[in-house]
Amino acid sequence: MKTPPRRTIPAVETVLQALGAQPMPRPMIVRAVRAELSSIRLSRSAVTLEEVLVRVRAKLRTLSASKLQPVINGTGVLLHTNLGRAPASALSVEAIRAVASGYCNLELDLETGERGARAAYVETALCFLCQAEACTVVNNCAAALLLILGHFTRGSRKEVIVSRGELVQIGGGFRIPEILEASGARLREVGTTNRTSLADYERAVGPGSALILRVHRSNFAMHGFVESASTKDLAQLARRKRLPFVEDLGSGAVAPTERMGIREHEPTPGESLRNGVDLVCFSGDKLFGGPQAGIIAGREKFVTRLKREPLFRAIRCGKLVLATLQATAESWLKTGGPNAETGTLLLALANEPVQALRERGEALMRALAYGSLEVRLDESQAQVGGGSMPDSSLPSVAIALKSSRFGLADLAKRLRVGQPPVIGYVSGGRLKLDLRTILSKQDEELAMAIRAAVSDSNPPGR
Ligand SMILES: *Cc1c(COP(=O)(O)O)cnc(C)c1O
Repeated sequence: MKTPPRRTIPAVETVLQALGAQPMPRPMIVRAVRAELSSIRLSRSAVTLEEVLVRVRAKLRTLSASKLQPVINGTGVLLHTNLGRAPASALSVEAIRAVASGYCNLELDLETGERGARAAYVETALCFLCQAEACTVVNNCAAALLLILGHFTRGSRKEVIVSRGELVQIGGGFRIPEILEASGARLREVGTTNRTSLADYERAVGPGSALILRVHRSNFAMHGFVESASTKDLAQLARRKRLPFVEDLGSGAVAPTERMGIREHEPTPGESLRNGVDLVCFSGDKLFGGPQAGIIAGREKFVTRLKREPLFRAIRCGKLVLATLQATAESWLKTGGPNAETGTLLLALANEPVQALRERGEALMRALAYGSLEVRLDESQAQVGGGSMPDSSLPSVAIALKSSRFGLADLAKRLRVGQPPVIGYVSGGRLKLDLRTILSKQDEELAMAIRAAVSDSNPPGR
């Protein structure tokens, strides 16, 4: 019989001491060390302390990389779901700080001293922006849709009429048919993928119909042999059949998208409501440029009823979200445009002139003239992203990196695991960092991060 190798497993305390000071809270480190030691014990292999340290350090690196932290977005995608969608303006951040750092009148009417309505101010501001009778806000657009569908299919009428061309998937795990199912509604598909006429909707209306739903195809476009009923016609049909008409706008452009320097036009909540839609919902953190939230706008009687739903209580927004949503709504009302001081940061980024990006890029190139690194400025195309306007791009400039020492994937990783993490994309044999999504105040940090990534003393994932 073979004897197992002699186990020389160091004590937890020995490993902790050898690790030295770590930025992570001690209990998390202890847990990682214990887990690693017990897996070594199970494998019955002999290890040196040094080997244990290598394994524990790798584990801690993975753990700390999962910590929510600021990153530099060099992808050129303005609304990147993986990177937190819309960044907040200085005004919004200040609003959060002010409300978060003490108590606030979340549900207190300061005039009467009685209990007040949460979100009354932001709802009023949103009414102006959406040109709606009433508005309210919940956790995100998916929750808004769940609330609306659940409400209208509560009774015996369960069917939600939707075009087959609008049974879309948005990002990871948000699929219209699944949301419908989760709400208890029954899907009544009409038309075909590329063509759905008014008559298709009309034929589908029956005694089981609860509402007509239109879903904005925010993350893809269809061209060619396509047809869809106009919002106006659908609204008339809904009126005639006494059905509520709901539109999920998703991307939520409260002002014409042309103001973002984008040609493609997104329907605004105001347009949809004017065309006869009863309720619209959209995301707070897409083109609106605010925090994660779902904004519902439309007929007062419907909004009032939605707010009485038990589910509403479960998906309402907290004070931090309301504070920044309020600041974002005020920004739109005060400026409506790309004013860097008072507007949304998203709009400011979208509107930065290409010449300004180029000048920043040239300054960065000078700062990066560095050993093994070859740096070039390329023209690029930034994207709106976040499931918005798939056909539109914004002219931009990217710094294009190539290293004689590191391959592209290696270089990309070195930047990703650096401090701050920098996220780029590989194209045309270069690692590119698009300046439209990099805040100008990050330029200096970016130069340092790039220098650190290509320097010897910084192996990937320190
Ligand atoms: C993005 C999107 C959603 C999901 O919005 P969240 O705020 O992420 O929940 C729903 N519908 C449409 C059409 C969208 O574009």
